[in-house]
Amino acid sequence: MKRTYFPGAERGAIGKVLGFAVAVASVLALWLLLDDDAGSGLKKQAQLKTMEVIGDAATRRLDFGDEGESTHGSAVDLIKRPVEVRQVAENIYYATGVGNIIMIVTEQGNVLFDTGLVLQVAKQMKALKAVSDAAVTHIVLSHSHADHIGGAKFWAEQDAQIIAHEQFTEEQRYLSELEPYQYGRNRTLFPWMPAWEDRPDIAMMRYGGIEPTITVGDWQTYSFTLGGVEFQVIGTPGAEGADNAVLWLPAQKILFSGDFFGPQFPQFPNVFTMRGEKIRKPMEYVKSLDLLLQLEPEIVVPSHLDPTVGASRIKADMQKIRDAVQYVHDATVAGMNSGKTVYQLMREIKLPPELDLVQNHGRVDWAVRSIWDYYAGWFHFDSTTELYPVPVSEVYADLARVAGNESLLALAQGYLNGGETVKALHVLEVALAADPANTGALRLRQQALEVQLDAAKNGLRNDYEIYWLQYRLADTAQKLGEG
Ligand SMILES: [Zn+2]
Repeated sequence: MKRTYFPGAERGAIGKVLGFAVAVASVLALWLLLDDDAGSGLKKQAQLKTMEVIGDAATRRLDFGDEGESTHGSAVDLIKRPVEVRQVAENIYYATGVGNIIMIVTEQGNVLFDTGLVLQVAKQMKALKAVSDAAVTHIVLSHSHADHIGGAKFWAEQDAQIIAHEQFTEEQRYLSELEPYQYGRNRTLFPWMPAWEDRPDIAMMRYGGIEPTITVGDWQTYSFTLGGVEFQVIGTPGAEGADNAVLWLPAQKILFSGDFFGPQFPQFPNVFTMRGEKIRKPMEYVKSLDLLLQLEPEIVVPSHLDPTVGASRIKADMQKIRDAVQYVHDATVAGMNSGKTVYQLMREIKLPPELDLVQNHGRVDWAVRSIWDYYAGWFHFDSTTELYPVPVSEVYADLARVAGNESLLALAQGYLNGGETVKALHVLEVALAADPANTGALRLRQQALEVQLDAAKNGLRNDYEIYWLQYRLADTAQKLGEG
């Protein structure tokens, strides 16, 4: 696995990481005194206490300084949210956090929708139990991402039903199998995460291992009634994975959307994650949206941030998301059929003004590329070399020697002056392949990245683009002996 550079490491964050490790170690010692057969109540209390200490230590570690760029709904934004209980309706509460835990109270027990991040479960549970500590009879999980299922093991009592999409187990499997790989990528983008070897590794905190007792298929509905309230769990694939499910309360016309719309509503969805997950299917998403539009929700309660109220506004926004995805899909397909390259289409396809949506989470040009890849695979019929395991970067160092460093830097400088920043970055990759520590090339790379970062912050404000550019800037600074 590629080890990633941690930009905070040179700004006194080492002390924080050590503090974190000490807090974890001391609570682990306490933990080990209780074996698995210790009284379950006692064990559970110890587990929750452990979670709380680790969670607090992790939160203290989060010192973003001015590096914590945030847009509405960004990871930085979410992790700064305090844990508190808010009320949606007479019978509905949610505990805020990185991921919300929603609790629907009935006379025969409570139903949970999503269970948040494991590091926050102790605080969120305490807050919700203060509202009602009746038994939780059903836990509905919107999908298998860690910020939605982290608390499930702590909340699940012996006979509680766990309801999820039928693809939930498969999505958990692949995310578990690729966890070390994806952890490295996530930490590149979210450098405040502890390093893989420093992460708290306790069974209850580990990702995965949640087995639904009831599953629902694509566009299928599972209904149950509890304390006179009707609940409908609907399989809605295509948004944040193949295993998305939403919860619908028909009597109150409230939709619990999980991540179906992403971390904010409305926005252009993340049809593709640049951090690296399986491609999501755009036309399945459109079909899921068609189904949700028919419900005519009056309130949407997402599993991140706060609810949206108002049937006409919700309908208009859902329609806009639906039409935007359809538009990008159809334009990509038309472009493929007319013989255009993926890069042409990434440049050309823009949302028309009436479908304009924020792109700080999902991005139109990346969606174009992922739709292309989803339909056509990796071979683009552009070059013979695509077929063989010898990337163009393997001749960069030789090219650089032939061209000479001075000419390459002049070329890069020219591109930079002409506003062609990405071309400048290409040339600098060639130059740096021959001489990775070349100060002139690194300085130009720094300038080019700063131009891109400025453009990103003043343009689409896409969180993942910003996080990546910040990571590369920190990496360049380190190579220059700065930072
Ligand atoms: Zn989420």
